[in-house]
Amino acid sequence: MGRPLFDGQKSIATLSLEALGKTHEFEDSTLHLRSADTQWERGSTFGPPIEYPEIDQALHSVLRETLENDKVLLSLAPAGIRLALAQDVAREPEETFWQLKSRLSEIRKRREQPVALRLIQGFEKRHGMTFPPELRESLERELVEDSPGHHFRYFGSTEHRSVLEALERQALSLAVNRYLLETKQRGIRLYQRFFPRFYREYAAGMSFLFPHTPNGEYKEKADYGPDIIFKLDHPYTHSNESRNGHTMFPGRMLQHKIIALMIFFHEYAHGIFDQILSRPNQGWHRHEAAYDAVNEGFATLLELLLIDKLVEACIELGLSDRDIRDLKEWKRQHLWSLKKKKDTHTWGTFYFWHKIYKRAGEEGMLRVLHHLDAKYLLSLRFDYQSHRNNLLLGEELISRY
Ligand SMILES: [Zn+2]
Repeated sequence: MGRPLFDGQKSIATLSLEALGKTHEFEDSTLHLRSADTQWERGSTFGPPIEYPEIDQALHSVLRETLENDKVLLSLAPAGIRLALAQDVAREPEETFWQLKSRLSEIRKRREQPVALRLIQGFEKRHGMTFPPELRESLERELVEDSPGHHFRYFGSTEHRSVLEALERQALSLAVNRYLLETKQRGIRLYQRFFPRFYREYAAGMSFLFPHTPNGEYKEKADYGPDIIFKLDHPYTHSNESRNGHTMFPGRMLQHKIIALMIFFHEYAHGIFDQILSRPNQGWHRHEAAYDAVNEGFATLLELLLIDKLVEACIELGLSDRDIRDLKEWKRQHLWSLKKKKDTHTWGTFYFWHKIYKRAGEEGMLRVLHHLDAKYLLSLRFDYQSHRNNLLLGEELISRY
């Protein structure tokens, strides 16, 4: 019996959050922030800091605990997500910028006060003590203070209007990055298990864009190397991954975790293709060479082959009936989209890879990968929007391999 695919295990002990350029280290389910990261500054840009030694000390204790305890920190994340979504829906044309700003600041205040109170009460409970009433009141104010005298900085240069805002932002990026890392870990495990001969390890950054029509993108950045970008309509977190969301294809909604996994698996395949063909890093590029069309067909076939393998190994992987239904639905939606919508990406090159697979299996695909001429394919300009071009390219490839 293997490890279940969606078991919520946090065995990402040594993975670092490269996407954020930070190094939080995971150990089991506990996140340890380096002590240097828990330093906090205030008042730096607006005159000398106001000194309240007693409050400072108490606040620092509450904050340090919050930062060291990822459960407390992550409990702030859903609030951050709600607020981010509220900001997005607030874009009404008749609302002036200043009206919007003050409205959001009101939303924030209403939300922050109870959170501040919860943090302080939680601290008291865990330590079996009670702050004197005046100190508790000051702590609460300090946490939610929204005045030019208090600007806080955590983990980089972004300024926040209150301590809680900074914590909330931090919690949100933690939740999102943890989710990305877990998705990556699942995807890599599946490559190692089901496509060991295709699998190439490469340093792929993971980033996250929302709100957006769900989709994924594989991008080569000149300075950073490959980056897998998740464009989603909702900031996924571990806690909401089994909820339903839209896919990029027309059809039924599927569980977030399935969508994220399929996006990752597909985008990672683009990098494998690059690795095997030793594509030179040219920095950011538009999809305009035949090379990209062949890569697209390859990633799409690998993605669909994975679904068959997952369904076959569903018991071993601990997949639920809902997982299986969603995987099959993803495949149906993707195939439908390729055929009916004449998805510009790839019908011809997908068909080419499928032919190779039918004829000689994965062995044959590998052989072709090693024979493809990257330089030639990169030099062949290709109208990415043309379905017909893709078909012609597919036919040409079929006649050659
Ligand atoms: Zn693709």
